[in-house]
Amino acid sequence: MAKVLIIGAGGVGQVVAHKCAQLANVFTDIVLASRNEEKCKRIAAQLKNNYGRTIKTVQVDADNVPELVALFNNIKPFMVINVALPYQDLTIMDACLETGVHYLDTANYEPLDTAKFEYKWQWAYQEKFKQAGLMALLGSGFDPGATNMFTAYIAKHYFDEIHHLDIIDVNGGDHGYPFATNFNPEINIREVTAECRHWEEDAFVTTAAMSTQQSFTCPDGVGTYNIYRMYHEELESLTKHFPSIKRAQFWMSFGDSYIKHLDVLGNVGMTGIEPIEFQGQQIVPIQFLKALLPDPSTLGSRTKGKTCIGCVVRGIKDGKEKTVYLYNIKDHQDCFGEVQSQAISYTTGVPAMIGAKMMIEGTWMKSGVWNMEQLDPDAFMADMNEYGLPWKVIEDPGFDLI
Ligand code: NDP
Repeated sequence: MAKVLIIGAGGVGQVVAHKCAQLANVFTDIVLASRNEEKCKRIAAQLKNNYGRTIKTVQVDADNVPELVALFNNIKPFMVINVALPYQDLTIMDACLETGVHYLDTANYEPLDTAKFEYKWQWAYQEKFKQAGLMALLGSGFDPGATNMFTAYIAKHYFDEIHHLDIIDVNGGDHGYPFATNFNPEINIREVTAECRHWEEDAFVTTAAMSTQQSFTCPDGVGTYNIYRMYHEELESLTKHFPSIKRAQFWMSFGDSYIKHLDVLGNVGMTGIEPIEFQGQQIVPIQFLKALLPDPSTLGSRTKGKTCIGCVVRGIKDGKEKTVYLYNIKDHQDCFGEVQSQAISYTTGVPAMIGAKMMIEGTWMKSGVWNMEQLDPDAFMADMNEYGLPWKVIEDPGFDLI
């Protein structure tokens, strides 16, 4: 049906390439481009081996708009699936506008020098995409992405009005390293060390990073974990698009070893994003740290355990208060068996593929810039069950959350 250009050949790019290759009737032609073409070729070899599919690979610098424009004009894709880094969102959107190509990403734009996590830069493209008759789908990963869909699905099918939202992201996987991140270390550490914001009544309330925690017991025997409140970008779009929400919080689990290492690294300045001078060279501490840490795309074979990510929503139905929990559990080793990747990349890459499928098949195709929850969740949720991320609902789960 359509030719897609995937940009980024990291952990998530690998899963997107696999999942698109598995659906040959939708993704008839696949091109994989990244800064380093060797990584694309390694993934292309997996696809040939696993599914007998041949894809084209290309080297591109996605910070460079003229280079992207030349590539898009040459390839002529229907859409770009952007799974490079958040820094490249705007350059890729600019190139899409110049060449008439639809756009999808999994993380909102961030300027390199400030860890801000705001949609304002991408929302500013609304009129341009509308006028060009092009669609930009923002945040089609797991969180953001599936969590936006979970919220929209719960709001549509279980409530008249939703009031409280808690997004709980538990990674019960263990890779055996004292400290490693499950996706790009620079982006991960910028996110985790940013000050916490959560929604109360009609405004965001700011608290110190990782200063609020509680214990959470996952369903289906996944285990009990310490979860920490932090800011996550979907809180901004969900509170805008569901104005009845009075409180929205995002929680993520971290092991004691991760917290201990992050504290020390932060205390000695290794997580800084400002350049410093070292032996006559400018280096950014967090980028140097990234070079020392394990590459997340190599964690797949050694990560054991499960992820459990879901949304707890409280609201009103037929005049009565109730609570609904919708979640997905994914086993790291199952992901590795299927696409040679751990579950964090898997749970991001599958919704990216499904979002692209929704656009290609026309289920969601409309011009403008859209967050996931603005679109009907039913077809997407059905595809989550179909393509590797089955979900369950518990009504009135009896959690005792802060
Ligand atoms: P990786 O660092 O593993 O991969 C990023 C890829 O992008 C690498 O192949 C990298 O190339 C490439 N890249 C970086 N800069 C450029 C550039 N200027 N031009 C071309 N290619 C470039 O990251 P992940 O795969 O872990 O994450 C990918 C994206 O997914 C990130 O934006 C991340 O924030 C997002 N994400 C979203 C989640 C969600 O649930 N919504 C969860 C996890 C991740 P090189 O190999 O040369 O560095």
